[in-house]
Amino acid sequence: MTPMAARLKGVGVSPGVAVGPVALMGGEVPEPPAAAGPVAAEGGLDPGTELEAARVALEAVAAELEFRGEAAGGDVRDVLEAQAMMVRDPGLADQVAELAQQGRSAARAVWESFTAYREALAGAGEYMAARVADLDDLRARTVARLLGVPVPGVPDPGHPFVLVARDLAPADTAILDAATVLGFVTEEGGPTSHTAILAKSLGVPAVVGCAGATDLADGVRVIVDGGTGEVRVDPTEAEVETARARVAARLAARGRATGPGATADGLPVALLANVGRPADVKGAVAAGAEGVGLFRTEFLFLDRVDPPSVDEQRTAYEAVFGAFPDGAKLVVRTLDAGADKPLAFLNLPGEPNPALGQRGLRAVRRVPEVLVDQLEAIGRAAAATRADVWVMAPMVASADEAAWFCGQARRQPIGRAGVMIEIPAAALRARAVLAEADFASIGTNDLAQYTFAADRLVSELSSFQDPWQPALLELVARVGQAGADTGKPVGVCGEAAGDPLLALVLVGLGVTSLSMAPGSLADVRLLLGRHTMADCRRLAALALGSADGAAAKARVKESATGIDELGL
Ligand code: PEP
Ligand code: MG
Repeated sequence: MTPMAARLKGVGVSPGVAVGPVALMGGEVPEPPAAAGPVAAEGGLDPGTELEAARVALEAVAAELEFRGEAAGGDVRDVLEAQAMMVRDPGLADQVAELAQQGRSAARAVWESFTAYREALAGAGEYMAARVADLDDLRARTVARLLGVPVPGVPDPGHPFVLVARDLAPADTAILDAATVLGFVTEEGGPTSHTAILAKSLGVPAVVGCAGATDLADGVRVIVDGGTGEVRVDPTEAEVETARARVAARLAARGRATGPGATADGLPVALLANVGRPADVKGAVAAGAEGVGLFRTEFLFLDRVDPPSVDEQRTAYEAVFGAFPDGAKLVVRTLDAGADKPLAFLNLPGEPNPALGQRGLRAVRRVPEVLVDQLEAIGRAAAATRADVWVMAPMVASADEAAWFCGQARRQPIGRAGVMIEIPAAALRARAVLAEADFASIGTNDLAQYTFAADRLVSELSSFQDPWQPALLELVARVGQAGADTGKPVGVCGEAAGDPLLALVLVGLGVTSLSMAPGSLADVRLLLGRHTMADCRRLAALALGSADGAAAKARVKESATGIDELGL
């Protein structure tokens, strides 16, 4: 009988099933103990053995760098070859030999030798000093091998893997792609963590908040279920086969879901993409986005002391507008500075509570010329393309603010002027707000933050970011009703829109378009097409009538159709 293999449980934040070997994300490599032991004759380390171990580790690191350089080609190959030469430096080898002779362990000898090398470089002019960080990385790689701990940073085992980490930061994951990462499992993090966002944009399954994940052995096979949040460790062949069949069924189902979004009874619900920079557009178009429901424009303003010129902005907007077919709806959000998006040039005052301070529309109202220039650039780009360009302001609190913003926007040749609903006051007064605006788009990330008074940047409070919470859904319902009463479109562009089950609920609450990470489009399109508007309304009522977010999700999951095939 096969022994029961372990199961770990976390929170599924990106649907689908993955089967593959674990690759652990390395943390900081510890400094090996400094004390030189007694010599071999007195029962201590054998210098010959230590030297040989160090030599083998250094050569393995150099060979791996060359191998990766060959695979990457171009400039990367040159850089990695130069690094391999540093690892094979004869001076470094001599130093390691000398330290091993004195009784240092292989790891300690390598550590000290690299440190000495580093100090020499740091004092040898600007160019050499810039190589110091490279040396730190090489030291960590070699010492990690000798200590048997994971190499720091994203692993590169040379085959597709399930990435397991304590948590992931944006910088860790910038280079990842769906061809190498089959899925994610993290010990920490919540539904709006970077891991969740990245997994959804890559369209791979992810489980976060999974206790015990980082104790998994490198290379052990796991099945990750991004729907149930379960991680099966060392599964049986039969389980692997079942999981593989689910992966294939999901792929086939997603492949069949094409065309514009609509309910099973043919009511259109535009499925749009969230775009953070022009480079995201390719993925959005490839995933069949009907347009853009949230074009975050902050990327143009990051790391600057002066705002970008109208021309610079116009060029960037045109590049995005031109990538979609004629007539596509493209919703541009004007600058959303402050709190989680600090921007140096706005010179925002130091505040005790930035999430409740000068941010979003309020922040740009202090420097209206920034908004005027941005609207002009958007207007010019719109006039130069055939896209249906809409514009909206972030963090609008009242009908007054909506009126002010829409007045500014209507001076430009822009299709429609609207607002984001991210503040409970605006949701409660949605009808008055919509009387001033042409449309509304609900930002569920901030709306959750302000409804629950729970900072979205504080990871211990991440459960309050759960968009299934009935209190949040009541506010969405209120905006949906205001949209129906005034005949104006109401979209959702927060993370909630990319959860296929929740998307059904949102549609049932009166939402007329959904904007999400491109990786979520296929699932949402497919599930929506399997439910009529009456189904969506029924599911919405179930969610609204639940005691909390978890119950709402469980009840909707139980009542929805066709979720198994999608691995939800
Ligand atoms: C939101 O708050 O839901 C939203 C879409 O805006 P951002 O995440 O950029 O604040
Ligand atoms: Mg927001």
